[in-house]
Amino acid sequence: MNINEIGEFGLISQISSKFSDIIPTGCSGIGDDCAIIPISDSRSMVITTDMLIEDIHFLRNAIPAYDLGSKSLAVNLSDLAAMGATAHSSFLSIALPSDVSVEWCNEFFEGYRSHNVALLGGDTTKATDRISINITAIGMVDNDKIKMRSGARVGDKIYVTSTLGDSAAGLRAILDGRAANFPELVMAHNHPTPHLREGILLGSLTAVHSMMDVSDGIASDLKHILRASGVGAKIELSQIPMSDALIASPWNALELALTGGEDYCLLFTASADIQFDDYYHIGTITRQHIGEIEWLDNSKPKLLMLKGFTHF
Ligand code: ADP
Ligand code: MG
Repeated sequence: MNINEIGEFGLISQISSKFSDIIPTGCSGIGDDCAIIPISDSRSMVITTDMLIEDIHFLRNAIPAYDLGSKSLAVNLSDLAAMGATAHSSFLSIALPSDVSVEWCNEFFEGYRSHNVALLGGDTTKATDRISINITAIGMVDNDKIKMRSGARVGDKIYVTSTLGDSAAGLRAILDGRAANFPELVMAHNHPTPHLREGILLGSLTAVHSMMDVSDGIASDLKHILRASGVGAKIELSQIPMSDALIASPWNALELALTGGEDYCLLFTASADIQFDDYYHIGTITRQHIGEIEWLDNSKPKLLMLKGFTHF
């Protein structure tokens, strides 16, 4: 059987079950945005690692080296934000073909540096033809402020911390050779901002019960919260936040907002009695249909066949 028959998440769950019996006491690993390693009774270290491969995650000629350096770290910092953590440090392993210029490298590291997060080590090797980048980011968080995917409760309201779909539309613009016509969308794709400040704020609120970052699109990402928490959800399509630039674009804005991915904002659930004016309320956690999303269009059920991004 080939791995495309079990899919990215099928493979991860096989890996996870092979190692489930050797998890150090008090730690948690595969299944959330970061692993959690307690360092005292009150504090934990959270760790995440993400890989970016040329021609899979980026096109070398379509992203300035500065933006690639910034984005590579940003996608990792976004996972720290999802736990409610502050960024502590990072490690970078990079494989480069020998025709990459020193100037390109300098710009890449300027972009990486722009987050002001320590780089404590890594590895540098030659690649045959494609650049690959692997970053490990480390965060710190008070134990009582950690937010996981598994904490959602029936009746919680579901929120996102920004509009959705701009990054995916930016990718469409790049692939269609029309990047120059859609600068805001391309910027959202090439230069995402991790929501660290939002994560720390939401982490400090006991009313917030679960959180993750949006990397594959909410149609797929929300299901991780639903499965981990043993609940279902209703999402009101008329409440999905979209930017004017996305709505004015020639692509299917709603589909990109739900399935496009790479938004790197936060998706969280919180008790219904708290009001968040700065964030977008998109739905409610329900008891029915565990792991499933019920889509509503102005309160009427709507059948949508949607899939977020997965490898394989
Ligand atoms: P994210 O998008 O938040 O980075 P992923 O969807 O990439 O998360 O991964 C889901 C979970 O599976 C994470 O906890 C991640 O650490 C884990 N994971 C993914 N690939 C592997 C692997 N090859 N070995 C061990 N754990 C993995
Ligand atoms: Mg994540």
